[in-house]
Amino acid sequence: MRSKRSKIAHRHQSLIFLITVTFLLAGILCWRTYSYFKQVEVNVAQVQLRQGPGIEYQAKGQLKRGSRMTVLREKYRWYYVKTANNKFGWVASWNLNPQGSQTVTKLNNATIVLDPGHGGSDSGALSANGKMEKTYTLKLAKKVAALLRQKGAKVYLTRTSDKFVSLAARPALSNQVHANAFISFHFDSSPQQNLASGVTTYYYHRQLSYSLAHTINQQLNNLNLKNRGIDFGNFEVIRDNDYPAVLLEMGYINSDHDFAEIRSNQYLAEVANDVVKGLSNYFATSSSTN
Ligand SMILES: [Zn+2]
Repeated sequence: MRSKRSKIAHRHQSLIFLITVTFLLAGILCWRTYSYFKQVEVNVAQVQLRQGPGIEYQAKGQLKRGSRMTVLREKYRWYYVKTANNKFGWVASWNLNPQGSQTVTKLNNATIVLDPGHGGSDSGALSANGKMEKTYTLKLAKKVAALLRQKGAKVYLTRTSDKFVSLAARPALSNQVHANAFISFHFDSSPQQNLASGVTTYYYHRQLSYSLAHTINQQLNNLNLKNRGIDFGNFEVIRDNDYPAVLLEMGYINSDHDFAEIRSNQYLAEVANDVVKGLSNYFATSSSTN
């Protein structure tokens, strides 16, 4: 009799022990989960809660200054959040406190703005037989965009067709989306035909953009055109840019030698490959906050 009773008591003790341990573990798990997810707060007058990680996605609500939310996941420079009243959506991280890390270490998490030079009524420079720079800048930018998207990057183009876009609107897009890199595509022109040849990489803000210029320029040595290196260039599209920005002059359109390359899809594909490799290296080695 006694031994049976003590057995039951023993069983009770085990059960109590098991329940205690379960509650303890659950408690630890809840606490870990809570502290694992970052809490953020809106630090501007109001932000849009969007359906996806980008300004191109529809807004499904607004959040006012001081609204608090939990970050469930991050992509590009956007947070997928749960708001205090249980709404879910994407918010631009630069409108929140704390902002968190802005460092991008992989191309597949980068936001890149590509700028095909000229367009519409602005033809750009002309080849000897009257072919227009604007045609080839767009072709090239589209090739780069396709490759970057294959690698998971978010890509914005300042134009996707033959239309006029003001100079000011180009860096404005970069500034609006907080681009991790901005690349403007052009083809050079010398005062007279066949006076100059080769490709040049330009930056404006040395501290912000030199390493991007350097990393991309390093890739441009496999082309049939001479690499003229890196230079400072006072161009509005890179000067008015708050983010790492370069302008590439990918050959002289009024040089017969260069134009034979520029007009070929193979050359444009090689350049596109080089640019994407350069960007990939740039993000892999980037320790900057941009
Ligand atoms: Zn140009």
